[in-house]
This record gives sequence, structure tokens and C-alpha cells, in this order.
Amino acid sequence: MNLRDQQQQALAMLGGFAVADEPLAPHTTYKLGGPAAVFATPRSGDELRQVADATRATGLPVLVVGRGSNLLVADAGFPGIAVSLVALADHVEIEGTRVVAGAAVALPVLARRTAALGLTGFEWAVGVPGSIGGAVRMNAGGHGSDMAASLVSARVVDLHSGHDVEVEAARLHLRFRGSDLADHQVVLHATLVLHEGDAVAAEHMLADIVRWRREHQPGGQNAGSVFVNPVPGELAAAQLIDRLGLRGFRIGGACVSEKHANFVQAEHGATAADVRAVMEHVRTEVYEQTGFLLRSEVRLVGFADVEPDHREGVLL
Ligand SMILES: Cc1cc2nc3c(=O)[nH]c(=O)nc-3n(C[C@H](O)[C@H](O)[C@H](O)COP(=O)(O)OP(=O)(O)OC[C@H]3O[C@@H](n4cnc5c(N)ncnc54)[C@H](O)[C@@H]3O)c2cc1C
Repeated sequence: MNLRDQQQQALAMLGGFAVADEPLAPHTTYKLGGPAAVFATPRSGDELRQVADATRATGLPVLVVGRGSNLLVADAGFPGIAVSLVALADHVEIEGTRVVAGAAVALPVLARRTAALGLTGFEWAVGVPGSIGGAVRMNAGGHGSDMAASLVSARVVDLHSGHDVEVEAARLHLRFRGSDLADHQVVLHATLVLHEGDAVAAEHMLADIVRWRREHQPGGQNAGSVFVNPVPGELAAAQLIDRLGLRGFRIGGACVSEKHANFVQAEHGATAADVRAVMEHVRTEVYEQTGFLLRSEVRLVGFADVEPDHREGVLL
């Protein structure tokens, strides 16, 4: 089956909640990249199961799109089924220190809501423009904490096996900016346990974090840090890039941020290929001059030279 036939078969199976050739750029913070062959927005567990059926029947790759704050989508787009959970998983339940948050909930929203209740331990998330689902998959973090610090379990639907399981955090093997979740494994919601604290102190912390971010990170179109820190807590990718004088290095409409050397900005007229070319130049220079091979933190989607995620993921 060619892509066109796979696309048509998926659309026929996904009825009223999927569209063809949806541009992914508006779904990402880079605002770059081409369309997804199929873009599904399931509204119920049943519809998510239909996505699993369509994935298996067509063999198309799948990409869960959260808030797109860690994605660089190729200009040619994504030849598969992109899934958004905005219509399915935007609930939050808080009972005491226990928080159950839908995958589509924005991290800053949850950080503010929990802080206002005097719950501490999630303030770090106020400056991270992702979703709960993306944050579990990436083990997002900052300011000395991360998802792993409060995650108890996650509800995960495996689009290959069809299983829908509450998975203990330990089994997800969260690590610095990564986890064992694979592309076909969808986080539906996460259960966190926070700590009782003081709402005023928590809100001060939020304000400090927001101020720090404004002072140290650029606005505009980017996906945060593009490379994983080679020695977390000890050696930051930004330090290596900075030492080589690469701030401001530019290809086409993309450049290394003058404000933060591990950010690659997309400016007017930029393409995803420009951003990728800047990343590759930086990676090569850093490797040749320091011996550190930087690993992309940004998820590269639809690039012909990037191996698709063939991992089995957490066994469900
Ligand atoms: C200005 C800026 C600052 C940032 N600062 C930080 C920071 O301090 N710390 C940090 O860790 N990150 C940071 N990021 C990166 C990003 O916000 C995080 O990685 C975030 O967790 C990504 O969430 P998302 O919903 O945007 O995921 P997306 O970018 O949409 O997706 C990222 C990955 O997660 C997967 N995914 C998304 N949702 C789900 C789901 N429900 N189930 C399974 N998989 C899913 C995607 O398939 C993809 O593989 C920053 C980004 C920006 C733009």
C-alpha cells in the first residue's frame, strides 16, 4: 500500500474525528514544518481505540502531538497519523496532595493551580510550555526538579497492542529528558503526589521562575533547549556551544540564540531545514572541537535521515 492508500484507509476508519493533510506548523512552538497525512482528534476512549485499529490496519507511524513545544517537524511533514488529545484529556482532579491531570493539560496551568492550593513540588513547570503527556514522555523538568519527582503513575494506551493500563512511574524508567515510552504509547493522564505547603511561598517561587526565564531565555519561535546536556547537572550543552563562539550563528532564517546558546531560533522566512542545518553545524563543531557528541533533545519528526522510533516501549 502506498501512503495515499494508507491515508485513505485511515480516514475511512476514523470517520468524523480525523482530517487529511493537516499542517502541523500551527501545532508546534517552532511554527514550522509540513502536514500530517492524517490528524486525529479522538473525543473518547472508543475513538482512541479506533486510532489504534487504524494504526494497526494501515501500518502508518503514529505521533502524539501535545503542545508541540519539543517538536521540529520536517518541511515535508509527517507521513503518518498525528494524534491530538485536546478533546479527550483536559481534566484535572485534586484530592489532598494527589493530583490526576489529563495529558492535554498545560504544565503552567497545573503549576499555577496547584501552587494556589498551597501544594508544592510542581512550581518548576510554570515556565515549561508543554503538556502533561509530553512532559511524562520527555521527563520534562527544570529548576532542580522534574516529572519523576512527583509522578506516581500514568495511564497509558498502547496503540499497537490496544492495551490500556495504569503504569507505575518506576516502570516508565524516567531519565534526564527521556523515558521508555515509545511513539505508539499514549499517555492519557498522570497521577502526581505533591506536598502540602504554603500558597504564598509557592506563588513567590512561580514569580521567581517566570522572571528567571524572561531574563535568561529568548521568546519567539523555538522548542527550548535543542540538545540534551551531556553531563546533566555538571556540563550544559549551552556552555560547550558558547565556548565555541557559536551564538548568533545563522543558516537561512534560523540562528543560535544570542540569549541562550542551546536555543535555535526560527526567524522570519525560516524553514525546518534551516533549523536542522544550524543544529547539525553546531553538533559537528562541538564534536570536532570538544569530543562531546550532542544528542538532540528536540524530537525530529519526518526527517528522512532520522531513524523512526522502533522501540517496543514499556511492555503493556
Ligand atoms: C521556551 C521553551 C522552554 C522550554 N523549557 C523546558 C524546560 O525547562 N525543561 C524541559 O524539560 N523542557 C523544556 N521545553 C521543552 C518542552 O516544553 C518539554 O519537553 C515538554 O514536556 C514537551 O511537551 P509537549 O506537550 O509540548 O510535547 P510535544 O512537543 O508535543 O511532544 C514531545 C514528545 O512527547 C510525545 N508526547 C506528547 N504528548 C504525549 C502523550 N500524551 N503521550 C505520549 N507521548 C506524548 C510526542 O509524541 C513527542 O515525542 C521548553 C520548550 C520551550 C518552547
